[in-house]
Amino acid sequence: MCRGGVGATIVRFNMRPASTRTLFLLLSLALLTPLTAPAQQSSSAYGPLPVFEFHSGFWINLHHALYYEARLREFPPNASQKGNPVPQVKLKLMKDAATALSPAERIAWDNSVAYYAANYANKDLLFNNELILIKNQLADFEDCDELSGAQKKTCDAGLAPKLTQALDAAAPVYRAHLWADQDRANRRWVAAVAPLVEEQGVGISQRLADIYQTKWPKEKIRVDVSAYANPSGAYTTIDPLRVTISSTDARNQGDEAFEVLFHEASHGIAEPVESAIIRECRQRDKAIPRDLWHALIFYTTGEVIRPLLTPAEGDPQDQEDAVKPNINRPPASRKETYIPYAIREGLYERGWKDYLQLLTRFWQPYLDNKSTFDDAIARMVSAL
Ligand SMILES: [Zn+2]
Repeated sequence: MCRGGVGATIVRFNMRPASTRTLFLLLSLALLTPLTAPAQQSSSAYGPLPVFEFHSGFWINLHHALYYEARLREFPPNASQKGNPVPQVKLKLMKDAATALSPAERIAWDNSVAYYAANYANKDLLFNNELILIKNQLADFEDCDELSGAQKKTCDAGLAPKLTQALDAAAPVYRAHLWADQDRANRRWVAAVAPLVEEQGVGISQRLADIYQTKWPKEKIRVDVSAYANPSGAYTTIDPLRVTISSTDARNQGDEAFEVLFHEASHGIAEPVESAIIRECRQRDKAIPRDLWHALIFYTTGEVIRPLLTPAEGDPQDQEDAVKPNINRPPASRKETYIPYAIREGLYERGWKDYLQLLTRFWQPYLDNKSTFDDAIARMVSAL
């Protein structure tokens, strides 16, 4: 549930600057990268849905599977808590497949995992520029059977030769034993969230853009659905704005998937909030609060979506008024009150309690049209 990016806008107050080595790698990748990726086939995209463009791409799924297995190898769950925590994603598909590998397949897969373990396991999918570039490139080449260009020139993805080799060697193993199940899981996930996106997506996107005093992107936001994503279960990178989301993560299932999608997309449009918080802090000579903007977008997405996913009680007009414009009443099939992600997953309890108080006291009135954006931010910051 976070955001990273490539290019000039990546350097933000909450991000680590790129190292010289990373910049060199970026430059190398940029030089090697062909200007255009092959035309995408409609089979890998889902449409026509508003707001989002969903993909279940072969290479991006393989990339995350190798990364995930490499992480498990480097940081086994019962090892000391050195390094980043091990992702808590279901391993069932991987374990089932592992038992079916032939000795040759096992060697090929293990070599590719070893390459990922040596080169990427200690890097963060969200914050590492090299991993962001690789991820985007693999998404763009999703319709290619291999990435070296040996069979089709336009399929030369321009990646480092050893990475290309690791991916191309693991591909037949992944295709034979894992991909069908993971692709099915991804498609099931999209099919489950699609009705809500279809019905409510445009209204929610307009409402969020209004709240953040910006415009929603004209282009549909690309969402790469992957069996494994990062430890948070989803992450968003900017320039270009792309969401990667895990179809198997328990936190992203059911109606919650809809909130996660809009939380992630909000990472791409909530820049005015970050800027306003920084500006107000500087004016008051206060330290910039870490993650207040992130708590704010969690809170906002949850509050905007909550009425849609909670059954109407009493006057249905109340529900319609809560989210404008033209938001329909929640389907009668929903029985329980919807609990937003940040509450459900205990984010406020784990260090954001003060932020929740600020948001409830000063930001909620703005959501209720009882305060202005500037006033709400100014009051939050002065109460820090
Ligand atoms: Zn987030």
